Amino acid sequence: MSTENTSEQLFNNSIKILTDLIGFKTISGEDNSSLINYCDEILKRIGATSFKTFDDEKKRVNLFATLKAKKPSNKKPIILSGHTDVVPVSKGWSTDPFVATIKNDKLFGRGACDMKGFIACTLAFAPIYAKANLDRDIHFSYTFDEETACIGAPILIEELKKRGVKDGICIIGEPTNMKIIDAHKGCYEYTTYFEGLAGHSSAPHKGVSAVEYASRYVNKLIELREKLKERSPKGSIFDPPHSTLSIGGIFGGIAHNVIADKCHVNWETRPVVKEDGVFLNSELDKYANEVLLPDMKKIFPNSSIRKNIIGEVLGFDRDEKSNACELVSSLTGDNTREAVSFGTEAGLFQEIGISTVVCGPGSIEQAHKIDEYIILDELKKCLELLNGIKAKSILN
Ligand SMILES: [Zn+2]
Repeated sequence: MSTENTSEQLFNNSIKILTDLIGFKTISGEDNSSLINYCDEILKRIGATSFKTFDDEKKRVNLFATLKAKKPSNKKPIILSGHTDVVPVSKGWSTDPFVATIKNDKLFGRGACDMKGFIACTLAFAPIYAKANLDRDIHFSYTFDEETACIGAPILIEELKKRGVKDGICIIGEPTNMKIIDAHKGCYEYTTYFEGLAGHSSAPHKGVSAVEYASRYVNKLIELREKLKERSPKGSIFDPPHSTLSIGGIFGGIAHNVIADKCHVNWETRPVVKEDGVFLNSELDKYANEVLLPDMKKIFPNSSIRKNIIGEVLGFDRDEKSNACELVSSLTGDNTREAVSFGTEAGLFQEIGISTVVCGPGSIEQAHKIDEYIILDELKKCLELLNGIKAKSILN
């Protein structure tokens, strides 16, 4: 009976923490420090040590906290990782998106499933880890600005490298209905700026049309897109199987009769292998610097082409012998592996040698939507997984 009570208490506590977390308006790009301090305090109270890493303005914060093993063994440390930012809200919510509201078996609120639900479970469970006779370290990693091309996590990863944390098992609790995701494409976003020389449209030879050079650049991108199809790796697990490329927008020009001096192009690519990203960028930069730019400079030496990286979210590669997947499978009984089309921070952890899996409560179907919710039962399943991790992290 007492275990019944504890598991109910644990569940109620995760709801309480989730309610608190939803109350912090941590929209990507905005200050998330209050939420981070809230998490840090919970973890410090139970004896965790922690460090923070920041963006340049020190407004946005990553937290990395550790419960040390009491009896260190050779077991790999476990990192429980989630992003603290949420996407903005549009009009049309039935409830206040920043006030958690429970209706029937669902909890509504921005971030309920993506991914404050997971963070709440880890914080609710942390005191149990703290009391247990841990024989491996358990880390809690909470990042900022994942939704805007994973801006926060790389700063944390750099610090982990410096501190020699480059081994372990990482569970990223993005909403997967507790299914195992072990691969996704990369997502690289860019804006390329063109600056030429304005002039009267009746004398095109005296100006440098930024719009026209941007158009040629876009044509090159479309040409390279075909090359990416040819490079499709054998046995690719993705749909479509090759790296994709898309032009999101072209912005430039003020009038029919004015040569545009400014134009910019928003574009993105989703590489199935890192090499495709390297190939694409080197071909494109070569074309811009060796063909377009010299042409522009003949007329106006101050012309420029500047490619701005918005974000380069690394792909997450399938590892047939993944420690992380095996651990989760052994606890949930789910032996399936899936590749998905959305990006996560998984590739970043994987790149420094940490075995990584994406598995968390709630469904991606409800993420980023009006009336985002998480089914309460999903939180229970997540708590069960965390309980399984405890069983695998104590001396027996
Ligand atoms: Zn997410």
